[in-house]
Amino acid sequence: MTSFARQISSKVTEAIMPYLDDPRLVRELAYVNGRWINGDRDFAVIDPASNEVIGHCTELRQEQVESAIEAAAAAFPAWRDRLADQRAELLMRWYELLLENREDLARLMVLEQGKTLQDARGEISYGASFVRWFAEEARRAYGETIPSHIPGAQLMTVRQPIGVAALITPWNFPNAMITRKAAAALAIGCSVVVKPASETPFSALALAELAERAGLPAGVFNVVTGEGPKVAAVLCRSDKVQALSFTGSTRVGRLLLEQSAGTVKRCSMELGGNAPFIVLPDMEVEAAAAAAVDAKFQTSGQDCLAANRIFVSRDQYQPFLEAFRRRIERLRVGSGMQEGVEIGPLIFPRAVQKARELVDDALAKGARLLTGDQARAPGPNYFMPTLLADVTPDMQVYREENFCPVAGVLAYDTLEQVIEMANDTEYGLAAYVYGNNMRDVWRLMNGLAFGMVSVNSVKMTGHPIPFGGIKQSGLGREGSQHGFDEYSEIKYYCLGSVIPVPGS
Ligand code: NAP
Repeated sequence: MTSFARQISSKVTEAIMPYLDDPRLVRELAYVNGRWINGDRDFAVIDPASNEVIGHCTELRQEQVESAIEAAAAAFPAWRDRLADQRAELLMRWYELLLENREDLARLMVLEQGKTLQDARGEISYGASFVRWFAEEARRAYGETIPSHIPGAQLMTVRQPIGVAALITPWNFPNAMITRKAAAALAIGCSVVVKPASETPFSALALAELAERAGLPAGVFNVVTGEGPKVAAVLCRSDKVQALSFTGSTRVGRLLLEQSAGTVKRCSMELGGNAPFIVLPDMEVEAAAAAAVDAKFQTSGQDCLAANRIFVSRDQYQPFLEAFRRRIERLRVGSGMQEGVEIGPLIFPRAVQKARELVDDALAKGARLLTGDQARAPGPNYFMPTLLADVTPDMQVYREENFCPVAGVLAYDTLEQVIEMANDTEYGLAAYVYGNNMRDVWRLMNGLAFGMVSVNSVKMTGHPIPFGGIKQSGLGREGSQHGFDEYSEIKYYCLGSVIPVPGS
């Protein structure tokens, strides 16, 4: 038995290996300083489609998490001092490996996360696109020269990497939420310690395996696994970690900000959303309904960008509901591994319970159930796509981030009213507008208090755009030319004249 074979449990051999071409992509150990390390205990990784254990992952002890920070701190100076070209070349190799292994990475993601194969393939391409983007940007991390207000002096700025960055990520996008952060941090010259969600560690560890193959030096990219509160506390409290980038719930984001205050870290936060989807009076109903299905049900509704409250102008309300219901009922629900399935299982039983509670609360407060027969669910972790009409602001489905395939729709009468209602939330991540009248569209683009407003397009994210929210949806931006801001300092140099300037 090789040392590699000894690291893999029989569960993985049974449940994952038959789906992959390259068995070495599956790791059950953490990755620290270029080595695969074991903690004291394991935790189970579960396939949401079957609720069965598909493998285990190690839970690191506190001192092992600290050793990952030490390793990243030790690797930082040499990584920072490499030429941008050299960092870019290694990242481009990582990018190529992600694409070469796209099918295996997608299948691994389906097995631990439950999303459909089509969504998983899309996520791998999306995640890889950040690696390429920031590899390219590494060469253009320019500073500036400043017209001097001091006689004889030259003034300039340079952008310097901040140091060790801790990256804490959620389970709904197990690949892209890591690469969107790590690619920016690594490209500018930071070293990173990644803490993935405990539901989806395998996607993160596969990224580490490919980073190693790409030639990233030991200590530059580390993945630590274990219980969120314990691991995060070590990362947040360490004075060797200069930046914390978190994607996850607003509740946990607040906790991490508190824990990071003691060491005054640079914190960037990609938190929850409560996206409005607004259908204007002149919008064609079928097109709006088709877009609403995409905006609501991708990743089975477990998406921070999911349309959470669908506002339809009063005249269009009934025809929209009818078109939306027909399209929802056509969605194919099943295991993400089956080609053609559009809605996979929810991540865990608690999520199904929460979906039930949202629906019960809405019905008790007067909403109408137009579709969503849970008796037809193909297994315990599934929730059939559900449509609620006549939703009101006192319902949980309207107030809370749903994170499940339950769509709530309501009618509005005026633009002023819909802007006010859409903005009446602590969240401010993304908003959708569907309509043709430029005056109305422009009023909404201006008036909606969200970090991203997408008009007549469900797809809005990607490597070139500044992704992020306002209000309690977050701090900072990911992707785009602004992505380096979270991982770098602008340092100012004043180069005075040692020789007295004639006449001064
Ligand atoms: P979560 O519960 O906040 O967990 C996210 C990460 O934090 C995981 O790594 C988790 O580790 C860790 N964690 C959990 N509880 C913690 C605690 N008390 N202290 C420290 N760390 C803790 O979020 P999630 O359920 O995985 O993801 C869903 C949320 O992410 C939604 O709110 C969604 O909107 C948001 N999200 C936002 C974006 C965006 O770009 N704005 C993108 C995707 C998702 P363990 O798994 O080990 O507990």
